[in-house]
Amino acid sequence: MNIVDVIRGKSLVEYIPELKLQSDGTYRCACPIHGGHNDTAFVVYPDNRYYCFGCHSSGDIIRYVMGRDGCSFETAIHTLCDDFGLTISDTDEYREHSSIVQRNDEWIGRMRKELPTVVDYLHKRGLTDETIEAYQLGYSDKLKALTIPMFDEWHRPVAFLYRFFEGKPKYKNSKNVKGLFTKGEFLFGLPQAQKNLKETRTLMLAEGAFDCMSAVQQGNCCVAYCGISITKSHVERIKGMLKTVENSKVVLCPDNDGKASKFVRRARDLFKNHAPKTVVKVAVIPDGYKDFNDMLIGGKDIAADCIYLPIDLYVVMEMIAEEEDREVQERNILDYVRTVGNPVVLQDIAELLARTWGKGIDVVKALLNLKDDTTEEKLKDIASATDSFRALESLRDEEYFGVGFPNIDKAAKFKRKNVVILGAASNSGKTENLLEWILYWTVKLRKTVLFFSLEMPKEDIMKILVAKIVQTRRYEVPEYIRQHPDTYGLIKDKLEQCLYIVDKPGLTLDGMEEYVNLMNTRVQGVDIVAVDYFQKMRGRDTIAAEELMAERTKDFAKKLNVLFVVLSQLSKAGQGKEQGGKWHEPEQKDLRGSGAIGDSGDYVFLLWRRALDSTLSPLDKEKYKYDSMIKLVKARERRSEDELFTLVYNPATSRLSEKVTEGM
Ligand SMILES: [Zn+2]
Repeated sequence: MNIVDVIRGKSLVEYIPELKLQSDGTYRCACPIHGGHNDTAFVVYPDNRYYCFGCHSSGDIIRYVMGRDGCSFETAIHTLCDDFGLTISDTDEYREHSSIVQRNDEWIGRMRKELPTVVDYLHKRGLTDETIEAYQLGYSDKLKALTIPMFDEWHRPVAFLYRFFEGKPKYKNSKNVKGLFTKGEFLFGLPQAQKNLKETRTLMLAEGAFDCMSAVQQGNCCVAYCGISITKSHVERIKGMLKTVENSKVVLCPDNDGKASKFVRRARDLFKNHAPKTVVKVAVIPDGYKDFNDMLIGGKDIAADCIYLPIDLYVVMEMIAEEEDREVQERNILDYVRTVGNPVVLQDIAELLARTWGKGIDVVKALLNLKDDTTEEKLKDIASATDSFRALESLRDEEYFGVGFPNIDKAAKFKRKNVVILGAASNSGKTENLLEWILYWTVKLRKTVLFFSLEMPKEDIMKILVAKIVQTRRYEVPEYIRQHPDTYGLIKDKLEQCLYIVDKPGLTLDGMEEYVNLMNTRVQGVDIVAVDYFQKMRGRDTIAAEELMAERTKDFAKKLNVLFVVLSQLSKAGQGKEQGGKWHEPEQKDLRGSGAIGDSGDYVFLLWRRALDSTLSPLDKEKYKYDSMIKLVKARERRSEDELFTLVYNPATSRLSEKVTEGM
């Protein structure tokens, strides 16, 4: 008998009276833990676990009470016993477990006092004092071992991992305790890692505690299994954790010791059987490093410097490397590929095999029974699955995307599902302005941006972005790259993770949607989509068609759950070239064409060069030659007055910034 199991069996839905049944089968209410006002932020799933889209806390009924009351596991158990009228019998396992946990707690305190004995060793392995503190590492003089406490999901120290400095084996766990700690089911580092999951959407699964701590120290979400392999119970825990994070994946991180293949294949079977919808990738550690801890010591960025392969592609690559007999190899691989379900991965495998076997891609596709049209259809299936998942979780994230211009950020709060229209006169620097925002979104906010550049080719965009990052003149960029290959490599790495550019001219809205869906199945989800610019899109031949398309931009942003930023041209009248040469400040009606694009925007900005103002004196025109004016004419927040902001371009650094105070 264990009271903990009895309590975990109690229904959260019955325990929290505010919960209301939703059409998607979940129960929701405002979050009792952080106390927000969103009536659907707090969700209870059919497996009796909760998740809050506001404060991101999650867990079972015990975690819920710990969060709600800000109390310990023990107190939560007593509260729940009172609430359900339960008593803990004298023979309950819980009492024994409690005393073990209490004893472990005392040990941790004592072992941490001995920490100075091993602190140099830990620093040498790259761990910072913050990490040592977070994992409560210590030293046992009696055992002559580094002590690594193992905390369960309720933050209880249920066991220890020892790292001995003399004799073998080097690592040893404390013994299993029935109902409290089972080595083969335990995930090390869960409480410390969980905070990074929302951000990275990636759960790394490492072999050892040091790899796990190294990855978390660099801001990743990483846990470690403690046995020789992972088990069904691990897979089910992981599935549960990832359920609440959309577009999430698990990454297996085997050591670079030649033994990875067997482990990966076993893991692949487990995931296929027990969590078939979970996206599984394998991290390939760069040559010269044996594991994550080695990478940390060597100054590598674990997230950026590994290669991440879909697990099936990884297995096929291993099969190619392992079997020299071509006939056997072909047979094995064709057998294996029959069990691969993801058409995007199948496509990648087909391309790999075509290269390896020196056959045409069509021949390989025929061998694999892979037809183009079915791939296409299946791709659409994935897209719609993504859509429904997104719809289900669409209430998450009330986050705002700033643009890095302080006053504009105060006036406009861009969110997912918003459409932002930036109307501009020609030569007013609208692409410049957009790229400045994109830089902020990708480098500062680490958002994934898909940029459709229908006018400017990719390489020109990269040149501008690099110029902005290293703050040099645009034409100096090629020389800069030659002289600073390392810095350039770093910039490339960072941008490649967040920014995707499509520079095909004449795309339609549907074409763009396909790209977003494809991206969502391949890499992490797209947060922001930008188009430069509306008049270069195809499908707006008549006024009616243009109106329809403008209207559909709203659906696009909603359906794909992205912030959608559309650049648009101003008509001649908006550029001061009509009305007998008289100049007037651009207005919303100056948006070119039917103006429908302005109606569809949640935010509408107009942009022009300050020197365009014909009332300025020649001296002022010279003075303001690098200034642009940007006017917010429509905002969701329903401001009555237009707001005007001044931007200034610095050609020496290629940066466009907001003039916060007016220069005299
Ligand atoms: Zn909450």
